[in-house]
Amino acid sequence: MPMFSLLFVLVVMLGLGLRLWLRWRQVSYVRNHRDAVPAVFAEKISLSAHRRAADYTIDRTRFGGFENMGEAVIVLAWTLGGGLDALNRAWLALGLSPLLTGTGVLISAAVIMGLLDLPFTLWRTFVIETRHGFNHTTPGVFATDLIKQTLLALFIGTPLVLLILWLMQRMGGWWWLWVWAVWAAFTLGLAWAYPRFIAPLFNTFTPLDDGELRTRVGRLLDRAGFRSRGIFVMDGSRRSGHGNAYFTGFGRNKRIVFFDTLLNTLEPDEVEAVLAHELGHFRHRHVLKAMVLMTTLSLAGFALLAWLMTQPWFYADLGVHSPSTWSALLLFVIALPQFTYLLTPLFSWRSRRQEFEADAYARTQTGAAPLIQALTKLYRDNSSTLTPDPVHSAFYDSHPPASIRIQHLNAASR
Ligand SMILES: [Zn+2]
Repeated sequence: MPMFSLLFVLVVMLGLGLRLWLRWRQVSYVRNHRDAVPAVFAEKISLSAHRRAADYTIDRTRFGGFENMGEAVIVLAWTLGGGLDALNRAWLALGLSPLLTGTGVLISAAVIMGLLDLPFTLWRTFVIETRHGFNHTTPGVFATDLIKQTLLALFIGTPLVLLILWLMQRMGGWWWLWVWAVWAAFTLGLAWAYPRFIAPLFNTFTPLDDGELRTRVGRLLDRAGFRSRGIFVMDGSRRSGHGNAYFTGFGRNKRIVFFDTLLNTLEPDEVEAVLAHELGHFRHRHVLKAMVLMTTLSLAGFALLAWLMTQPWFYADLGVHSPSTWSALLLFVIALPQFTYLLTPLFSWRSRRQEFEADAYARTQTGAAPLIQALTKLYRDNSSTLTPDPVHSAFYDSHPPASIRIQHLNAASR
């Protein structure tokens, strides 16, 4: 077996081993802590709710293991298994121009990947979420979502793919700088347009204008310099019983969004605390920082792709027999995540640090108590485990474990 093929198989298999090991740790840890509510939550969360959360976590974590195995098989089938090579040959046989052949290969590959992912999504939604009482998605809503997402992806993706392939074929050795500029403009435009033009295609957003809340949050928003028209309630209950709140977008399209499911269970002072947390993300410019980081990383990514594209072994050792711009692009998209998976803990750590920053901001605005109450309700109602495995959590979790978050909030308020 050629050197790089061997390395690739090794990385895929080791990555799968690591994923399964982390899941096994999580399942064992949650199961071992299933019969006792942690002391901090003893008065607020019942043993039966704690056990429900454990069962839900175990169920999802186990199923994720099957997904990981499926993904590894799919990655190897696309590359060394000859999947991409076969798709490539089928399109080349049509005798279209390189630009149209490339666009055809990329779009049909995306459609096939989507179809392969579908059984997993269906199982998660209609078996696991339903079993634990969270699913509100009807088959009708699911089908409508799928059709809308596909049309939207084709509508936005096709011109982008055409433009990128055209630049790769026409701009010579420095094509990757051009493509990077297009990519950066595209992600920036998408982040700007998403809250206002895309998210409303799937959910209804209504301005939060409850009388008592409005007066309560007015001063908070003024202090943060956030225009109050940007706070919305989303009908999350259409699809699921899970509740959440998030901050998104920038410029005139920045928004703080509450799921209706969350809003229904929170008292006004708790809503204010969650809002203050989201304003913390706004004050610390977390959306902007994420975009700067992703744009910088994508520049390095395109430079790497530009080099790989000129290496015959990159194609041959990954199972593609006729090198082309589109095969390079597709191989890169399939193979790179296998290598960058090991960076996951770094990104998780960065995200958790930002959560602490947002919590700290909320504490200065509303005090620690209402945020702690809101978090407790959020964990309880979402059946999020209070006892995650520390290693699994350090590797994956974008939010710190509940007990540690509350510890930080309490320690700082003393
Ligand atoms: Zn947050």
